[in-house]
Amino acid sequence: MRRLAAYVLLLALLLSGCGVQMSPDEAQESIQVIAMDTAMLITTYGERSPAAAYACEDTIRDLEAKLSRTDPDSEVSRLNASAGEPVEVGEDLGVLLELARYYHGSTGGAFNIAIAPVVSAWGFTGDSFRVPSQAELDGLLELAQDGPGYNGSLSHGGADRYSLAPGQAIDLGGIAKGYAADKIVKVLQEHDVPRANINLGGNVLAYGGRPDGTPWRVGIQDPARVGEQNAFAGVLALTDSFAVTSGGYQRYFEQGGKTYHHIIDPATGYPADSGLTSVTVVAGLGEGDGSGFPGTMCDAYSTALFIMGEEQALAFWRDETQWGEEGCPFDLVLVTEDGRVVVTKGLADRFTLDESSGYTLEVASQ
Ligand code: AMP
Ligand code: MG
Repeated sequence: MRRLAAYVLLLALLLSGCGVQMSPDEAQESIQVIAMDTAMLITTYGERSPAAAYACEDTIRDLEAKLSRTDPDSEVSRLNASAGEPVEVGEDLGVLLELARYYHGSTGGAFNIAIAPVVSAWGFTGDSFRVPSQAELDGLLELAQDGPGYNGSLSHGGADRYSLAPGQAIDLGGIAKGYAADKIVKVLQEHDVPRANINLGGNVLAYGGRPDGTPWRVGIQDPARVGEQNAFAGVLALTDSFAVTSGGYQRYFEQGGKTYHHIIDPATGYPADSGLTSVTVVAGLGEGDGSGFPGTMCDAYSTALFIMGEEQALAFWRDETQWGEEGCPFDLVLVTEDGRVVVTKGLADRFTLDESSGYTLEVASQ
């Protein structure tokens, strides 16, 4: 069922062309990867494009093997099954645990990987969807309320031992693809790739520009028209940037005439209901919060800001970006339930509203 959904998404990506432009002069390689519960499309350019594309795939598969919650042999599964005992984790998981702990704090608890048992109770870990009782949610929320309470710290060499608080489990679904995108940047650099368009299912890496020198065009899915081909709220023109989108439309089920999606508000245990239908966080490759992982930051913040809602998300953006170059430069595209698209000022010249979407465009400034 999940695989089928991923294949349908892949077909949609292929048919929409997803911003990839063919060039007769420059070698290129395009490969499709089904991983991390989604359909991915990797297009690399330049002489070493085939080796680069397959090295990107290897990176994704390696991370999936370490971070998957459904693979019992993954490091995450071993940690989740460890009942409070210390477990050895490699560098990737160690870095993600540290970043996740930081983002839990910086988002006031909205980003919380310890929400895992609640995500599972709704059936989003397998595909056995159900609406949990309030009593069940209350019990599970108690385990998550203080955030990821693991002990351990990352030693310089990478691998280290971590233990979760007893009863806790973690879910890296809100951050893993962004981290994969950060690692892919390094793979592309190592292969001297001049340009690439990497779409990890809602996480886009626009590396370099298009072969004709213009920016990549990255469509923002219209959350109100998910079933339609090329139904965009608008298009971003991006060079050397990450654009990561979170939306309730990306994974959901319906029961009793209601729709329940996969982004859980840790304050309620219910799917976030903040008036936003999608949030896209955009950052340049060298930007972000200074952690060296701007793709991971975009991923964590797209999930968290979707939960916060428009007002809080814009306040967060103003707070985090007020130091300019020294701070944490990123920009946002918010799509609202009441028919507006709000872009923050850094994107005003790079975002084009799709007129057929019917949205009105607003620009938010500092
Ligand atoms: P994304 O598509 O990046 O917004 O991530 C959504 C995924 O993150 C879900 O499918 C869950 O695996 C996980 N998740 C859900 N709610 C939260 C939350 N409040 N904090 C962190 N991760 C979450
Ligand atoms: Mg995310």
